[in-house]
Amino acid sequence: MGRPKRFIAGAVCPRCGEMDKIMMYSTDEGQFRECVACGFEDKQSEESDTSGELTTRVNQRKNEDDHTVKQVVFFKSAADDDEESSD
Ligand SMILES: [Zn+2]
Repeated sequence: MGRPKRFIAGAVCPRCGEMDKIMMYSTDEGQFRECVACGFEDKQSEESDTSGELTTRVNQRKNEDDHTVKQVVFFKSAADDDEESSD
């Protein structure tokens, strides 16, 4: 509780372009950025939520692709070989 605002070293304000003017602070609604130079404010998306969604999506897609491709390729080449050699 009562987390202090802290500056982000090297962060550049997207509105005024000033460096080292961005502060970060957390509230019950999430994490916010604030520029002390121009008053720009921005809500940050939750890190854990974003990375979790990304990991799940990539894993699922990769698994499906790998499984399908391997099975199709193996089955097709095996059948071709068989037909040709017995002919
Ligand atoms: Zn600014």
